[in-house]
Amino acid sequence: MARPARATQAQQGGGVQHLDAMSANLLKESGPREVFCGLTSIVWLHRRMPDAFFLVVGSRTCAHLIQSAAGVMIFAEPRFGTAILSERDLAGLADAHDELKRVVRDLLARRPEIRTLFLVGSCPSEVIKLDLARASEQLNQEMEGRVRVVNYSGSGIETTFTQGEDGALSALVPMLPTSTERQLLLVGTLADAVEDRLITLFKRLGIDTVRSLPPRQSTDLPPVGPGTKVLLCQPFLSDTTRRLRDRGAEILPAPYPLGAEGSRLWMEAAAQAWDINAAQIRATLDPLMERARLALEPHRQKLAGKRIFLLPESQLELPLARFLQRECGMDLVEVGTPYLNRDLMRSELELLPDGTRVMEGQHVEQQLDRVRDARPDLVVCGMGLANPLEAEGIATKWSIELVFSPIHGIDQAGELAELFSRPLHRHQLLAAGRQC
Ligand code: SF4
Repeated sequence: MARPARATQAQQGGGVQHLDAMSANLLKESGPREVFCGLTSIVWLHRRMPDAFFLVVGSRTCAHLIQSAAGVMIFAEPRFGTAILSERDLAGLADAHDELKRVVRDLLARRPEIRTLFLVGSCPSEVIKLDLARASEQLNQEMEGRVRVVNYSGSGIETTFTQGEDGALSALVPMLPTSTERQLLLVGTLADAVEDRLITLFKRLGIDTVRSLPPRQSTDLPPVGPGTKVLLCQPFLSDTTRRLRDRGAEILPAPYPLGAEGSRLWMEAAAQAWDINAAQIRATLDPLMERARLALEPHRQKLAGKRIFLLPESQLELPLARFLQRECGMDLVEVGTPYLNRDLMRSELELLPDGTRVMEGQHVEQQLDRVRDARPDLVVCGMGLANPLEAEGIATKWSIELVFSPIHGIDQAGELAELFSRPLHRHQLLAAGRQC
């Protein structure tokens, strides 16, 4: 495929714009989108920090969204909720500020175990210009350190899906203590078991001080400063990264820890920053790579040569595409992403085959037309599109599962591949059954 050098075309609403490219073919489109808003990230963030509470300041729509996304978890002791803006608030008849502070005081009186309260902005709170930053500041003064009140936006106007986590973490960065201690900071939510395993492996390599943001307890914030070297566990942390840099941290350039190859390069980036010798790296990582190769093999047999189309949702699409192409032998039809930070994706873009069609943004109707024209073997998409595409005979994989599953690290490469081989295999079995 030809490699466009500069912006050549821009059309209004739904046009496709060619951008400067590295080896990939970087494109941009705008129009109707089929994505979650940033509120959804509360579902995994509240599990990570059990002493925190997420209070959305929004409408009944926002409350319905979180309850649907969280599924059965709404029946457990809830650690998230919605302060619903009433018509009186929206019409300016009540002082929404005072109402909100009253709701917060009630909540904290009933739930004394809450240590950090996230006030999460939504579309309605933004549209009526409710100043949550000022409310947080006033509540912080009132609480005198008993509870920390933090504010960020998860609105659909400003954020897409995983960008909600970026908002929450970047809001925490100014609160991190300052330290010049030499440490490795893993940034981005990981499953606890995956985090434990990675810390063990870093220690085996010779990196002893490893901390995480977000921490498991919201009060246990890691320090940051000029001795901090950061490995990003997730690709959607643009604002958090910028704020960590402002605090003196160094971001280690690396692909993301998805798949065996990406995870190895990610760990090696830290090992090199700590001047660990090549023999030690090989002794630690080679056996893991061999195990991953064996675990990947049955899935590679099912996936190799198959064509995959990834619709934009989580910003995980580029690292996943790189893994599926390089380690599972899949062909990439199109790799969608809601937002492309070229600086944070540089290492990923370099590993994609020349001419890979990377589409930033979305015009969902046009994208679906391209899916239908290309008839890929597998489409990664949101739940709203999956069943309709299945009904058209196209196999799909729900992208939301990828943010809830423990997919990071060399050890998880086989399981990650299985998330794609399983729906493809099921689709083939059903198709064979229909022919009988
Ligand atoms: S924040 Fe906006 S997009 Fe998200 S549920 Fe509320 S109204 Fe909808």
